[in-house]
Amino acid sequence: MKGAANSKPIPPFFDKFSIKEALAEARISLENISDSPALDAELLLANCLKKNQTYLHTWPEIILNTAQQECFKKHLEKRLNDYPVAYLLGEQAFWTLDLIVTPDVLIPRPETELLVETALNKISHIKQPRILDLGTGSGAIALAIASERPDALLIACDSSNAVLKVARQNAIRNKLDNRIEFIQSNWFANIQADQQQSFDLIVSNPPYISPDDPHLSQTIRHEPRTALAAENNGMADIEIIIKNSITYLKPKSYLIIEHGYDQAKLSQQLFLQNNYINIESYKDLNKIQRITLGCSL
Ligand code: GLN
Repeated sequence: MKGAANSKPIPPFFDKFSIKEALAEARISLENISDSPALDAELLLANCLKKNQTYLHTWPEIILNTAQQECFKKHLEKRLNDYPVAYLLGEQAFWTLDLIVTPDVLIPRPETELLVETALNKISHIKQPRILDLGTGSGAIALAIASERPDALLIACDSSNAVLKVARQNAIRNKLDNRIEFIQSNWFANIQADQQQSFDLIVSNPPYISPDDPHLSQTIRHEPRTALAAENNGMADIEIIIKNSITYLKPKSYLIIEHGYDQAKLSQQLFLQNNYINIESYKDLNKIQRITLGCSL
């Protein structure tokens, strides 16, 4: 007979399981939901043991105690429900930084490092550049730039105070808190008028997924919707940012935005309509046009 009654208990029961056995079982149950079942299993078990991955390979025969088993079981249950590893661990690597992540913030993605890299290039010749990061989330972009440019001064804003709390913690954790001012602001709403024409660079990874995109109810459903989805096929916030940034940029300064795989052309048009020049899009490591930039006159 098939069906739930006959199916293997998920997650498996780790009675007197060794590290090696626990990992093997977990890997099998995670195969259906994860692209990296072995890595996920190792990261989650290492977290429960408060050890690193090397420890797991050095001591594969050690038997897990009850608390460790329970912890691993809880993690696996959540992971099998698509809950992201980064939230379970409470941290995510980005650029050279280790960032705290909570369900209040989007988990920083590797493709966003393209935005950081491009931003650093555009300010390479400017001393003490003033930079604005719109919708900073965990603070990933602002902190990565600050870590590479000790002379840069940054303002990072987000509409949510809960999010800013995480970003501030990340600044402190990475000893960059004296270089970044965090402001609660829905895009430019609370950015002072005297900041007009004052930035050498504006960067943003705004929400850009269409509200009817099925991904929102799938694997990314545990991440904050406000950080992911935007009206007008995902273009609403990108449009606000492109339209408004031009007045806050110094002459000959860049706005760089991240966008979705099919939004480079639309973004370029918006840059053009709003009198930016030197408009370009760049491809990420997956060869997807991921960021677009434009320069003020
Ligand atoms: N790159 C993210 C994803 O595809 C979306 C991030 C965003 O909307 N800014 O899951």
